Amino acid sequence: MVSSLTRDEATTRAEQIRVVDYRVTVDLSGAEDPQCATFGSEVTVRFTADEGAESFIDFVHESVSSVELNGELLDVDDVVEGSRIRLPGLGEANELRVVGRALYSRSGEGLHRYVDPQDGSVYIYTQYEPADCRRVFAVFEQPDLKAEFHFTVLTPQGWLAASNGEHLGAQPSDDGDVPGALSHEFAPTQRISSYITTILAGPYARVTDEWTGTDPQGETVSIPLALYCRRALAEAMDAEEIFALTKQGLDFFPKLFAFAYPFGKYEQAFVPEYNLGAMENPGMVTFTEDYLFPSGATRAQRAGRANTLMHEMSHMWFGDLVTMRWWDDLWLKESFAEFMGAYACVHATGYTDAWVTFALARKEWAYRQDQLRTTHPIVADIVDLEAARQNFDGITYAKGASVLKQLVAFVGEESFMDACRAYFRRFAFRNTDLSDFLDVLDEACDHDVRAWAQLWLHTTGVPVLSLDTPGSSADDAAAPAGASLTQAASPLRP
Ligand SMILES: [Zn+2]
Repeated sequence: MVSSLTRDEATTRAEQIRVVDYRVTVDLSGAEDPQCATFGSEVTVRFTADEGAESFIDFVHESVSSVELNGELLDVDDVVEGSRIRLPGLGEANELRVVGRALYSRSGEGLHRYVDPQDGSVYIYTQYEPADCRRVFAVFEQPDLKAEFHFTVLTPQGWLAASNGEHLGAQPSDDGDVPGALSHEFAPTQRISSYITTILAGPYARVTDEWTGTDPQGETVSIPLALYCRRALAEAMDAEEIFALTKQGLDFFPKLFAFAYPFGKYEQAFVPEYNLGAMENPGMVTFTEDYLFPSGATRAQRAGRANTLMHEMSHMWFGDLVTMRWWDDLWLKESFAEFMGAYACVHATGYTDAWVTFALARKEWAYRQDQLRTTHPIVADIVDLEAARQNFDGITYAKGASVLKQLVAFVGEESFMDACRAYFRRFAFRNTDLSDFLDVLDEACDHDVRAWAQLWLHTTGVPVLSLDTPGSSADDAAAPAGASLTQAASPLRP
């Protein structure tokens, strides 16, 4: 059984422990055998804790063969409870090693294995948000326990592998399920949350390029770029346009945010059977392969892809560099990325009508959803992971972005961007909640942003406006002498 995780449990665990780093080995060397339902998973995690505390780590496994805490083997039958492993008697500095096997996924959650019906090739990718990293290795699965991750991935011969960090090299290894596998090493990540770590492996087609420009300090920098898709789609991958957009984004965001791109390389993979549009794994963004167009594309389709590409790139700052403490503040990354997707298209690309599309499609989605009984405030009350899963919706994305557009008009574009710049400077590689963003916003402008936040972020429903034009009728061609606009809904909003 897969346990949920409640906000209260996550709060307690974050008070108890601080994670230093993970060393993770995932053995995909048997992935080409369809009879092989599981892969090997080994993790060594170093973390500090309150002396004598008891906590737990999450692992949705097929089997756990050993749990070793601070040099002592624990009784697996005693400490493994469903998808949790109990960690009794912690010290101030701890080293935990968990070895087991986990299941290949066909649902797009965790480590997904796809067999291409066209040529029989096997392709692997991961998708974790909000909490499916634990389907691949033992991990403290909550956004505010950031850590450095070191990945090693064993694959069959002839496969590529990619992850958040730079690929350091691949060597033959006999440590895997299948002898003579390739062992791929990756550079350690920055301190990031587990839900944005990722692994890509398979005989993917790969195209590379490089962005060179100046960082906000005026230094010349280069960022390696790569695109991946399955080989059967390689001809449909229009690398020229995708790289051009990527470079426009890398020209734009670091300057806008006065913060250099923090994750080294920028790779983008188009993957099959993907449950969503895209995912902002730092250094290695995944997209649905529906964003490749083997039969040609309309301008609207290409504009939609450009918008998603910019949305994901803005997440490198909003979400990846600075991350919400818990899923209540999912809007702190999704509403902002939705806003920035359109904003960057207008200011940095040829898709300058992005706000028109936003108003006609995305905002319309928000209006509809906000009038249903299932609506919720933009800042939601997310008591556990199941609630978090339900929150990726028209309110968090489209209403949140609509309200941000209004906020930018209210406080002024320059003040809003000043607040963003202060936010990244102050909270880089850390976690935040709404009050942290309101603090920087308050410092950047003279408006009562907390009253605004109370009325727009903590309430539901659309304002209802009526226009009263005394003395005129519908067929009266002349303009009325006077008119009054009344807001009827509760609460009254600025
Ligand atoms: Zn997003």
